[in-house]
Amino acid sequence: MKNVKPMTRRELLGLAGIAGVVGGVATISGVLGYLAMRDRSDDRPKYVVVTDTPTNQAVVLPTPSPTFAYPRPTIVSRANWGARLPDHTALYESGFYSAENPGGWREYEGELRDNYQTVVVHHSAMYETDDITTMRTIQNLHMDGRGWADIGYHFGVGRNGAIFEGRALNVRGVHVEGYNQGSAGVVFFGNFEKASNISQNQLTQEQFQAGIMLISWLATHLALTHIAGHRDFNSNTKCPGEHLYAYLSELAAATGLIRGPEGYVPPPEQQTPSA
Ligand SMILES: [Zn+2]
Repeated sequence: MKNVKPMTRRELLGLAGIAGVVGGVATISGVLGYLAMRDRSDDRPKYVVVTDTPTNQAVVLPTPSPTFAYPRPTIVSRANWGARLPDHTALYESGFYSAENPGGWREYEGELRDNYQTVVVHHSAMYETDDITTMRTIQNLHMDGRGWADIGYHFGVGRNGAIFEGRALNVRGVHVEGYNQGSAGVVFFGNFEKASNISQNQLTQEQFQAGIMLISWLATHLALTHIAGHRDFNSNTKCPGEHLYAYLSELAAATGLIRGPEGYVPPPEQQTPSA
């Protein structure tokens, strides 16, 4: 049998010293890493490190800023998914907006956050071989099938969690009839209405998380107040389908938005001046 000798006090102190050095290095590298991380983000509050102060205060945390902006998620640009250029000779969205051409291509004036109120959630009701092909097909359907100048939605959310840039955000969308003004259109790829349980009829985990990231960013970037499903505005559609509609309350809670169509504000020319 082997005789196990207890550690001497000297050996114990030596181990404690090593642990102390390792712990100290970890703390310093941790702070440096943290600061390096903060420095990469220019629009965030800067953290100030104060050393050797009599108060023994190592890190001064900033007070939360009311203008804190949720970070913009990675978005596949139009160039990177191969979007077609807008066509201003389109049959049903022809030319540019004017009093005489109220259905034309309308670019918002002033700050975007003063124009937007609601994010409207849709489903694509179809799916191609992959996310990027689906985004291209939706644009083709809207331009060639519906006669619109461009894809009607502002963003697409793929089943693999990729987010696609649709119509430019400074242009009124075409996705919720009668309520397009101030409504950001987000389409989730899939047909969430079908009753069968095949995979493309259910949200994927990646898709749900990407949707939360996108809508959280839109909520702060555009100062949105509400989130709604397409069918909350247009009773003649089942969009975004029952399986996605069931997640709207969770999306609202995760993004800090009020659920429902009540946030809609008509365009200025349709507002009756108050007495
Ligand atoms: Zn829809």
